[in-house]
Amino acid sequence: MDMQTNFLDRLFESGLLIETGVDGLYGRSGQFEDVIAAFERLIDRFGGADGAEAMRFPPGMNRAFFETSGYMKSFPQLAGTVHSFCGDELDHMSLLKCMEVGEDWTKDQEATDIVLTPAACYPLYPTVARRGALPMSGKLFDLQSYCFRHEPSKDPARQQLFRMREYVCMGTERHVTDFRQSWMDRGVEMMKLVGLDVTIDIANDPFFGRAGKMLANNQRDQNLKFELLIPITSVTKPTACMSFNYHQDAFGTKWGLNLEDGSVAHTACVGFGLERIALALFHTHGLDVKHWPEEVRKVLWG
Ligand code: ATP
Ligand code: ZN
Ligand code: MG
Repeated sequence: MDMQTNFLDRLFESGLLIETGVDGLYGRSGQFEDVIAAFERLIDRFGGADGAEAMRFPPGMNRAFFETSGYMKSFPQLAGTVHSFCGDELDHMSLLKCMEVGEDWTKDQEATDIVLTPAACYPLYPTVARRGALPMSGKLFDLQSYCFRHEPSKDPARQQLFRMREYVCMGTERHVTDFRQSWMDRGVEMMKLVGLDVTIDIANDPFFGRAGKMLANNQRDQNLKFELLIPITSVTKPTACMSFNYHQDAFGTKWGLNLEDGSVAHTACVGFGLERIALALFHTHGLDVKHWPEEVRKVLWG
């Protein structure tokens, strides 16, 4: 049995994660949630004085905004859409018949105006664009959302529905790259406080297809994405628990985000993978929180 399955089984046995029959779709125990809540308070302690505006969106977003975002160009393999039954009584009868005989009953479902949120920051850009110009001093936002990615896996750190806490910065190039650097430093400091071994490395997004290879190389060459990695299911291939993304003026141009002087805003976002951080803590310190090192418990629960 490989390490991933072994760790997943132990998480099920301990009750921290609850099986649903679908890889990457799990319930969480109260204890698991308590660790996430405690870690989010630690994030607040580090980021709380920066004056970020907090917003919380549900795990679904406006399909029109999703289309504008270009997500289907880059990551069609990961997207999830919400479809519903929109027929009449006759259609309903054939639907039930279809289910009864075990045929595919989903093919007549129709797309709704909602798609599943792929990253916590996606609903933010059109929201901010509607407000008009951004101050020259920039703006900072604090987000958290369940996100969906169609990447079923036995690796407990690769889930299909998971939470991302994000800070998003909009402003001048200098402002947003300083923001990103300061969170790389903070990320390392925070993880050290809770006894986790970290490295930071350059990274790329999983762009689809052959054209995607070029986009990925370009992203790396330009240092646009960094990840903070922690060993969870493998020491040789540690898991990305935070990411630090600089979008240059790409999102500013796409959404019409301008600064007061008329220039296009640059943006950057910093994401915490909350389930991955909790799993890194359980993997490193053991499945029983009572037995975690006293210093770590103190940082998380005071
Ligand atoms: P990976 O390379 O591991 O797929 P990613 O580059 O797709 O990660 P991002 O798109 O930068 O990740 O998402 C921000 C953060 O969300 C990641 O750093 C990670 O902690 C978390 N995350 C991403 N995908 C998943 C997933 N499938 N399950 C749990 N957490 C995830
Ligand atoms: Zn983001
Ligand atoms: Mg990914």
